[in-house]
Amino acid sequence: MKKAIIVGAGIGGIGAAVRLAAKGYEVEVFEANAYAGGKLTEIMVGNYRFDAGPSLFTLPKLVDELFELCGKTPKEHFEYTRLDEFTRYFYDDGTQITAYSEPEKFAHEIETKTGEPAENVVRFLAKSKELYELTAHIFLYSSLHNLKTYLNTKAVTTFLKLYKIDSFRTMHKANESYFKDPRIVTLFNRFATYNGSNPFKAPATLNVIPHLEHNIGAFFPNKGMHAISQSLFDLAKSLGVKFHFNSKVSKINTVGKKTVGITVNEKEINADIVVCNMDIVHAYRKLLPQLKEPSKITNQSKSSSAIIFYWGIKKTFSQLHLHNIFFSNDYNAEFDAIFNNQTLYNDPTVYINITSKLKNDDAPEGCENWFVMINVPHNSGQNWKQMVQEARKNILKKLSNRLGENIEVLIEAEDVLDPVLIEERTSSHLGALYGSNSNNWYSAFLRHANFSSQVKDLYFCGGSVHPGGGIPLSLLSAKIVADLITEKES
Ligand code: FAD
Repeated sequence: MKKAIIVGAGIGGIGAAVRLAAKGYEVEVFEANAYAGGKLTEIMVGNYRFDAGPSLFTLPKLVDELFELCGKTPKEHFEYTRLDEFTRYFYDDGTQITAYSEPEKFAHEIETKTGEPAENVVRFLAKSKELYELTAHIFLYSSLHNLKTYLNTKAVTTFLKLYKIDSFRTMHKANESYFKDPRIVTLFNRFATYNGSNPFKAPATLNVIPHLEHNIGAFFPNKGMHAISQSLFDLAKSLGVKFHFNSKVSKINTVGKKTVGITVNEKEINADIVVCNMDIVHAYRKLLPQLKEPSKITNQSKSSSAIIFYWGIKKTFSQLHLHNIFFSNDYNAEFDAIFNNQTLYNDPTVYINITSKLKNDDAPEGCENWFVMINVPHNSGQNWKQMVQEARKNILKKLSNRLGENIEVLIEAEDVLDPVLIEERTSSHLGALYGSNSNNWYSAFLRHANFSSQVKDLYFCGGSVHPGGGIPLSLLSAKIVADLITEKES
């Protein structure tokens, strides 16, 4: 039996473990933390439960697929619900828009609340679908660094229609051409933040992202986001995958051009293949000093990070739902602060996720668990202690104004996460949430491949390599790794 070692039990690492175990490999996963899931974990703050990182769940079929691959019925192990209503948007002028899963209903809501013609929204979402159908099979589901990806009719069709993927103007410029009302431009600009990018710089190709949420759907795991990593961790264990916690890998070992295993706790462990789920920059700098670091890739500018407050709130708010966005009064200035000045904007866009709206036991009765997040620059040595205090003040001011209530006095339990802690807990380079950003049209081509071009039998998965950050893409990176291994073996 061939042996595979996986470095890191983030969602990408767990996905790779399941796929390789299903292929008949003996799989061992070494994880620096005491738990599986990486960013996709949960915490308790007082009597409140929080999903610590990701809160928005799209493309659940990528999780189902892993159970099916192992001959199991997904529903028996992992249940989720499609959301009829997913985001409530709040603007400083008092406008409130609800995003419904039904595109026509959402378009009608926008027309009613802002006067933006419903047909513009419907046309935009159809364009988003077209972008997805044109690009997903190459940019998301395949290795961009494998000749085979380009040698089929679907790929040829995509390249003949490259002009349609809208990569030569920014997302903001494109959205200004679709919509008259600046509030709706802002609403759709926001999707650039789903991979930590700046809508005023990122190519309009990123308008593919709303398709996932608005056409395919947004979902909620019935036991919370943490159930995604936990159920897949259980699946991996049921296949015989061995997990070693508190086991920080210090080196990936190679002999000549062949990968032979890892060093962990000063012990060498051999394997036929190694899959590295550690952030790619740290992987080269800490685990692979013997290889040449591909600096063109590792020096790509990073995605944004986040400051998150986990607040136990001793009151319920009927005007809020699962996902809530309170927009900044000047979105352009906010992104200028984050990406150009590497600092905070004093009127940030505030996201509040409240899982207790759907999963009542996440908060005591009559209370709510508020996951309050703002986008911030990645860590470049700023004074985060001071910035966290400033962010807290700005957020409280904005929410108290918009909700007509002193929020600070309602906080009865509190914890915080910032870019430094994100890096400490998951080894994400500079605390970036999604690896490098997509602020230029060629960034997709400058994400690291899912394999090493310098040594054999070394593969890479997770949010810092191709196809990108976020749960769905991290799971796809694991699929691409498994496909590359199958191809090599055949
Ligand atoms: P990670 O979660 O980064 O985990 C890597 C693991 O490897 C860690 O457990 C780490 O301890 C381990 N490791 C690293 N080095 C070593 C070593 N040397 N030895 C052993 N173990 C090691 N995505 C979404 O889809 N939707 C969202 O709503 C969303 N919101 C987010 C909000 C926040 C606050 C954050 C932080 C992220 C969010 N994301 C979201 C992004 C998403 O969480 C990540 O893209 C995804 O979880 C990355 O998974 P990964 O496989 O790269 O592993």
